[in-house]
Amino acid sequence: MEKLETQVIVIGGGITGCGALRDLAMRGLDAMLFERGNLSEGTTGNFHGLLHSGGRYAVKDQPAAKECIKENRILRKIASQAIEDTGGFFVVIDDDGEEFMPRLIDGCKTVGIPCEVLSSTEALREEPHLSPKTRCAISVPDGSIDSWDCCIGSVNAAKELGARTFLFTPVTEILRDNDRVIGIKAVDQTSGDEYVVHCEYIVNATGPWTDKIASLARIDVPMVLSEGVMVVLDSRPTKRAINRCRYPSDGDIIVPVGTTIVLGTTSVTIEDPDNFCPQEWEIYKVLEECMEMVPMIEEMGIQRSYGGVRPLYEPPEDLEDVEEGREVSRAHFVLDHEELDGVGGFITITGGKVTTFRLMAEDTVDLVCEKMGVDEPCRTHLEPLPLGG
Ligand SMILES: Cc1cc2nc3c(=O)[nH]c(=O)nc-3n(C[C@H](O)[C@H](O)[C@H](O)COP(=O)(O)OP(=O)(O)OC[C@H]3O[C@@H](n4cnc5c(N)ncnc54)[C@H](O)[C@@H]3O)c2cc1C
Repeated sequence: MEKLETQVIVIGGGITGCGALRDLAMRGLDAMLFERGNLSEGTTGNFHGLLHSGGRYAVKDQPAAKECIKENRILRKIASQAIEDTGGFFVVIDDDGEEFMPRLIDGCKTVGIPCEVLSSTEALREEPHLSPKTRCAISVPDGSIDSWDCCIGSVNAAKELGARTFLFTPVTEILRDNDRVIGIKAVDQTSGDEYVVHCEYIVNATGPWTDKIASLARIDVPMVLSEGVMVVLDSRPTKRAINRCRYPSDGDIIVPVGTTIVLGTTSVTIEDPDNFCPQEWEIYKVLEECMEMVPMIEEMGIQRSYGGVRPLYEPPEDLEDVEEGREVSRAHFVLDHEELDGVGGFITITGGKVTTFRLMAEDTVDLVCEKMGVDEPCRTHLEPLPLGG
């Protein structure tokens, strides 16, 4: 058993953990990341690919919309290599959007998302494969983003500054000394090596596994796990990300990714992130709904389908009113378990989006620094993210 020491341990090598590792290292903290599989193996490697403008949340979830547009602008500057500036349309088909469209435009104006209304003729000139039933479109600064590139870039930057990563090394125990967390035990799945690592702080960045990891420290974090399905098609009939102009529901976004388009998604509440299987009806539903926006989808070939699990959190007092995953905010939450549960040394970062990963890391590391008495400002919005792999 190897004994190690560090200042901060990050558990989870999705976009949230990788972003946090980079920010910790940039503020001069000694940090290690433990991931049970490879980087990006959880939700981060199984998401839709949209760099959100915030338009999707501008009506019903304005805090999330504000975070998205702010980070959308920052990521275009610091991680342009991982982003394609596709632009995005919200399309009004037939009579949908009557009530929603003016609310979307108002919402975008309120949170500062640039948007413009295009007539049917203008929209079809720009995107000839849109349905001829398109009545109009609202343009927003959506894009597509490569989450793998952002993970690797963040980890490479952190390693340059001395951080260490342990992949295929699940955390199996969290060590407590009375009312404080003091370290972890982890086992390397390839070599069988066991580690005991002592630290001052643990950042729990395990997405849908948040509650499973917290329970190792005898802490309860009530999560809403919302599974969604995506379908990858074999060519790219639109330049832009195409969103249906209506309240978020199944199958209402098409994201161009490289030479393909990715259709999505659904929202099914599940219990266990290690035990879920996308259903056939979800795939058909997504295809059917997206065909209404881009009819030629009916003739295209399916490359593959996959599912991911949204790690959603709602403070317990608000959770009582939530009936399904779509009602839970997409904003992120930094949980200080010293304040919430009387257990020091343990911080959870959860919720959010790939689009907001940098801000999630900033807010988390701000709290770690405050707790540790470190007075180093965040610089991740200023320095370019190195190229990924
Ligand atoms: C269907 C769907 C579509 C989405 N589309 C978009 C989109 O278009 N745009 C966008 O911005 N966001 C999107 N999101 C949201 C976004 O993908 C997630 O918010 C984000 O990827 C969560 O990242 P994470 O790092 O918090 O979690 P994860 O990526 O799940 O990372 C958690 C990591 O913890 C690891 N772990 C678990 N247990 C242990 C252990 N014991 N020891 C060590 N490691 C452990 C896991 O292996 C995993 O790699 C989507 C989400 C879903 C589900």
